[in-house]
Amino acid sequence: MLLKSEYLYKRAQKFIPGGVNSPARAFKSVGGVPVFFKKAKGSIITDEDGNEYIDYVGSWGPMILGHAHPTVIKAVQDASFNSTSFGAPTEIEIKMAELVQAMVPNVEKVRMVNSGTEACMSAIRVARGYTGKDKIIKFEGNYHGHGDSFLIKAGSGALTLGKPSSPGVTKGTAKDTLNADYNDLDSVEKLLKKNKDNVAAIIVEPVAGNMGCIPPQPGFLEGLRELCDEHKTVLIFDEVMTGFRLARGGAQERFDVWADLVTFGKIIGGGLPVGAFGGKKEIMDVVAPVGPVYQAGTLSGNPLAMSAGYAQLSTLEKHPELYVELEEKAEYLAKRLRVVLNQHEIDYHMNQVGSMASVYFTDQEVTGFKTANTTDQELFKIFFHEMLKRGIYLPPSPFESWFLATTLTNEMLDKTISAADESLAVAKSK
Ligand code: PMP
Repeated sequence: MLLKSEYLYKRAQKFIPGGVNSPARAFKSVGGVPVFFKKAKGSIITDEDGNEYIDYVGSWGPMILGHAHPTVIKAVQDASFNSTSFGAPTEIEIKMAELVQAMVPNVEKVRMVNSGTEACMSAIRVARGYTGKDKIIKFEGNYHGHGDSFLIKAGSGALTLGKPSSPGVTKGTAKDTLNADYNDLDSVEKLLKKNKDNVAAIIVEPVAGNMGCIPPQPGFLEGLRELCDEHKTVLIFDEVMTGFRLARGGAQERFDVWADLVTFGKIIGGGLPVGAFGGKKEIMDVVAPVGPVYQAGTLSGNPLAMSAGYAQLSTLEKHPELYVELEEKAEYLAKRLRVVLNQHEIDYHMNQVGSMASVYFTDQEVTGFKTANTTDQELFKIFFHEMLKRGIYLPPSPFESWFLATTLTNEMLDKTISAADESLAVAKSK
């Protein structure tokens, strides 16, 4: 029963657009009432009616160590007694920068911001300032936050709502955003040739997570690296989802392809609002106050946010076995889910990269935007709600990645598999 959620949703809609502060939460593609939550611990999340769920959203990524991790909570509590903000430099910001550099070695300099959106907006401004070029190449179905330049054929909530190109973005801005096809180097090469000497940056999710989870095909990231070198274009990896998740050094380490600039979010803040962009010293030194490219933030490097992020990252840094465990859990889940999906003889394609995964109900291999779009959304809708009824909280859209946490136990994974078995049976019968 979702009585309290229903009541809260009605109340919320009166004064908050759509009742939510971010569209991906609104259950638009699956229908029904968004679940309102009141607390969570580890991988168990409890709604306002007291129902408990196994959580595969993890606040869309940050909760890699599970909710309310004692080290993170203590760090926030301790920091809060010394003031919530100074708007002046603090030691924890240096510790954070040093730790990021230790975990991701090509981040020679890093600037903290307050969200993934800010990180990506700032990174392309820096790339433009550094190269003196105007245009950027992004990929259809990738999502880099809600900065104007990115809302052209975007993924995530924009894709779920069927509005990948947003009104409110001027033609002038839109003309500088070029869209290529994910996993298709030819499409990138064509754009680079057509816009010779005017592409400042290529920005890419090294593993796409915003049209569901889609891995890079072998050679794709390497090819982007080569094309960027050839065309003197800045390669930006958007590691807002993948950073510190797919390995200590993120997707860069996992695939051994190294970008010029990297953007972070989610895990870097331990659940508090943090993002960051960083990379080669030579490029980062165009950022104010050293260089002329302006970028700023009153709350950037906020002591509570830095403390939470530092607690989470240093836990991951000290315990490399956590990555091995996460990998094992994800592989166990994917393997068993495939068995169940096969038993039900449902057309599906499952992608899994480390602790990111998603299931598409399609007979095609999903490698990019077009194939992701072949997923049967009606079937997903039923599957999602049946899973929810059985206490499994999945992202409420077929175009979002599932995120696993270290706190998932074997019992929880088994419960998820049996719930999937039952839910697929219902979905098939409808
Ligand atoms: N980049 C990627 C890859 C993301 O997944 C997201 C958010 N889901 C963003 C950027 C934007 O981050 P935020 O929502 O923190 O602004």
